[in-house]
Amino acid sequence: MSAQSRIACPLDFDKAGRQVGHLRLPHSSNTSAYGWIGIPIAVIQNGSGPTVYLGGGNHGDEYEGQISLVRLIQELDPARIQGRLIIMPATNLPAAMNHSRCSPIDGGNLNRSFPGEANAPDNRPTAAIAHYVEEVLLPMCDAMLDMHSGGKTLDYVPSGLIRRDGPDDPLFARKLEALKAYGAPIGYVVEGGGMPAAGGGIAAATITCAADRKGVLGMGTELGGAGTVTLDTLGVARRGIENFLAFMGVMEKPATADSPKSRLLKVAGPDYYVHAPCRGAFEPAFRLGDEVAAGQVCGWIHQIDEPDQPSREVRFERAGVAFCKRPITAVEMGDCLAHLGTDWQG
Ligand SMILES: [Zn+2]
Repeated sequence: MSAQSRIACPLDFDKAGRQVGHLRLPHSSNTSAYGWIGIPIAVIQNGSGPTVYLGGGNHGDEYEGQISLVRLIQELDPARIQGRLIIMPATNLPAAMNHSRCSPIDGGNLNRSFPGEANAPDNRPTAAIAHYVEEVLLPMCDAMLDMHSGGKTLDYVPSGLIRRDGPDDPLFARKLEALKAYGAPIGYVVEGGGMPAAGGGIAAATITCAADRKGVLGMGTELGGAGTVTLDTLGVARRGIENFLAFMGVMEKPATADSPKSRLLKVAGPDYYVHAPCRGAFEPAFRLGDEVAAGQVCGWIHQIDEPDQPSREVRFERAGVAFCKRPITAVEMGDCLAHLGTDWQG
């Protein structure tokens, strides 16, 4: 570990076997003058082989990664792997403990905070976590799988995702193979730097961008959401971890990890997204996973207290697969209602 960080790690990254502990992020607060935030971390190592980072709880209200990584830490026999796993089940621990997307301490959205700051002050722990992951953990790794879902405000057909860092992305061919190997019902490619959903302000602030900067083979997921988990989404999460580790040569692919072939999509621009033009009660006109046509009605926004006012009709701008949907009826202007993918042509 050469990078300077305010975070201390009690584990020995070179020791064989299973170690579980807590990173110590100094946090001086009104309730604890000399306190630290304890962020759970596990290192599981056996023999020689690649090092793989497995992350969950980057967003605190996305549970598939958090649950499947806690189980992995408890259940994985180190003898089953050849190499090393660095496991962070609740990467933004304050957000995970608050069951919220962002940290309640600083409002920080970890997956918009990379590369972070080496000397982030105590009142901005999210920037310190981002820096530690990018500058201390990822440089030790060959590959990275960070597990997301739609959280409380979106719901996805379970998906794996990769980022294409421009047309000359040197890792792209391998990322695409990893995406196929992961084996979610959908695997999709996001073009460019940031989240096109935000509509502009492209910033390379996600953990997949951090992996690209460090030359680490990185992929993410959107495994479900709506603030909950299901047998189906957890099944995809668990099989996906094993498929990814088998792809990296860290473990044998178990028979139970067989997965259907992923449908490959891309998400390429603002017209893939539908946002609410006003506040109100959203009535959807589609089901999650539907194929929709350009101009098709996405739904209506009703003003329940003024029934004589015409409801606003909202349409899809383009054709595609509606594989992400807002599960909450109450909407404000600017909320994302749905987004599409279109078939990946290579
Ligand atoms: Zn997320």
